[in-house]
Amino acid sequence: MNHNKTKKKVPQHTEAVCWGYEAENGPDIWGQLSSGYGLCSTGICQSPIDIVHPTPAKLSLITFNYQSTPLNIRNTGNTIEVAYQSGSWIEVDGMKYHLLQFHFHAPSEHTVAGDLSDMEMHLVHESENGMLAVIGALIKSGSINTAFNPFWNYLPSTTGESKQIKDVILNAYDLLPIRKHTYRYTGSLTTPPCSEGVKWFVLTTPIEMSHSQIAAFKSIMFGNNRPVQPLNGRELLVDATKESNIGSKD
Ligand SMILES: [Zn+2]
Repeated sequence: MNHNKTKKKVPQHTEAVCWGYEAENGPDIWGQLSSGYGLCSTGICQSPIDIVHPTPAKLSLITFNYQSTPLNIRNTGNTIEVAYQSGSWIEVDGMKYHLLQFHFHAPSEHTVAGDLSDMEMHLVHESENGMLAVIGALIKSGSINTAFNPFWNYLPSTTGESKQIKDVILNAYDLLPIRKHTYRYTGSLTTPPCSEGVKWFVLTTPIEMSHSQIAAFKSIMFGNNRPVQPLNGRELLVDATKESNIGSKD
């Protein structure tokens, strides 16, 4: 009882609720950890999903306007996240979404016909009116990916550790595959509070990274992937435009 009394004196931030990926705080019980996390168990439009039998469609172009940003990287305990300076955005279907941050999961969260990839990168965007759009890129073992070199040596290895390095400049556009066809559906955040109404754009072409690049991440963090959620009849589209829907970088 005293414990509860003490707790009330200090307002608790949502961040203080220790969700994670272990049995005692993992995806199966996120919905029970906080009153604000209800959608994690009751939501019916959740992410990630297994991408299977998408419907081909002529999809609109994603216009990229990503600027370079100085490195600001943090190990949150549940992911490794790069905060993005303001001024970068994508535009799709007449709506502009500003890039806030990108982060990584290992193994992947989305699966393709049941197959997990080694990792997945999420670029999280928000529109002026608070709509979220996430670009997901699956990462598979292959050739070394030099686009990641500028910051891959700076991965913070302990929870709460962050690094701000002004001299290391990166542009998230350089991390993406050339071909920017996507799978599209409407889902949720894959972490608490599992908010719905998130526009998902999962690139059909995976990023390649070398085995040792992937191992460098996994040595710090592994198993931060939510299991796939039921589609529940949602529309899942895949870009069927013949021309390479490569977008543009201003
Ligand atoms: Zn994510």
